[in-house]
Amino acid sequence: MIRINTENYRDEAIKGINDPVLQKALADLQVRFGRGTAEAYRNLPEGPGLRRKAHEIRMKAVENLDILLERLSEKIRARGGHVFFAEDADAAVKYCLETARKHNVRLAVKGKSMTTEEIGLNNAFAAAGIEIAETDLGEYIIQLAGEHPSHIIAPAIHKTRSEIGLLFSEKLKIPFTTDPETLTRAARKALREKFLSAGMGISGCNIACAETGHITVVSNEGNIRMSTTLPKVHVAFMGMERITARLSDHDILFRLLSRGAAVQKMAGYVSYIGGPRQAGHADGPDEFHLVIIDNGRTKILADEEFREMLCCIRCGACLNVCPVYGKIGGHAYGYAYSGPVGAVVTPLLVGINRAKDLCLGETLCGACKDACPVDIDLPRMLLLLRSKLADGDSKWNAGRENTGEKMLYGIWSEIVQRRWAYDAMLGLSREGSRLFTGKDGMISSLPFFLQGWTESRDMKPPARKSFMRQWKKLEKQRRVK
Ligand code: SF4
Repeated sequence: MIRINTENYRDEAIKGINDPVLQKALADLQVRFGRGTAEAYRNLPEGPGLRRKAHEIRMKAVENLDILLERLSEKIRARGGHVFFAEDADAAVKYCLETARKHNVRLAVKGKSMTTEEIGLNNAFAAAGIEIAETDLGEYIIQLAGEHPSHIIAPAIHKTRSEIGLLFSEKLKIPFTTDPETLTRAARKALREKFLSAGMGISGCNIACAETGHITVVSNEGNIRMSTTLPKVHVAFMGMERITARLSDHDILFRLLSRGAAVQKMAGYVSYIGGPRQAGHADGPDEFHLVIIDNGRTKILADEEFREMLCCIRCGACLNVCPVYGKIGGHAYGYAYSGPVGAVVTPLLVGINRAKDLCLGETLCGACKDACPVDIDLPRMLLLLRSKLADGDSKWNAGRENTGEKMLYGIWSEIVQRRWAYDAMLGLSREGSRLFTGKDGMISSLPFFLQGWTESRDMKPPARKSFMRQWKKLEKQRRVK
């Protein structure tokens, strides 16, 4: 079962804003990761312009996916690996479940993968009676807590040390502690047993390489290397867009990915996997399966205006600087992807109307574009999604939302194009605002559809004398002098 709660965005956002623990965690996250990103890009030997180069690399790959994916699969098959193209989430999950059943798997260990979150793999395995143990520390914590990730690369960012201490003492039966090293050791011990007894390893794929026929997986904990080499069977999931043509592209992309994700020069572990264990290899699985997932991506690819979204390498940098994510947290977005990337990609994957609040909730401040290691123009696509909601779009099955608002903006557009109409409207609002202005000179409550403006703050009424009038007066006085 796939978790899609995008309809609850507003309620969940309010919950997040009113949660002081979450507010502190998000503020710390944005200071720790968000602030250093721009400097990390500036300190690159090639300078921040490397992001543009990365954009070109990704865009070129996205425009040649058919050739690149064919090359990748040919090379993996030649080494004895299996490649399955899954049209949607159900097909991907079914393939993995069938593979698990064929090998009588009772336990699988999994590295962090947002793609498996997108397709609801864990729930499907649980329903089939097969345990999946998350092995990334953050994912392990939220799995023990029965929750979902709230950040692409820091899934347990919303949990405090004492919450984790309580959780571990309850689930792992250790004395309560908030010491990070003791907690990590406890998780390590519990996970080691899982690694050694799992029949299947599951991973995502950061970026595949068509030239060499490998997928890559990046981590800072070494858990993915264990998940992909110890069990007899390895199943890797990748979104169909996560590929580049050449190995030399990886040098650029991984340096940017690590800086964007965690202000690191390079992640701790970067593994290249191209098939099952070969003769002479000391370790590795007997069987390797790569599941390449479409699940709505072909539709994005076909749309020239949204195609750029497929350049995303899911680094999470845009979350670390987004003022909206920084207040409401990841759970409000109601799907695998949160923050600005979620606000664009989720409506495209689950339906623009269904996830409309995600793109309407963003501020369009542009911080996400500046932080993105592959220079994706998220604000442009947020605006585009809003235009689909205003005008409707049959290609995206998007129905018109809020026709009253569209009509109001139409009137507004006519007014601001005529000076006399604009002045008349200002005069009217100046007089009208007297009715709502309190003794403190502020408006604390507006009626009807305007009430949202004063729901959480007071508003200053329009100035008694407009700037233009004051300016004209000053000009006149200057000329007289
Ligand atoms: S949109 Fe850019 S910054 Fe955001 S997750 Fe994707 S690659 Fe990273």
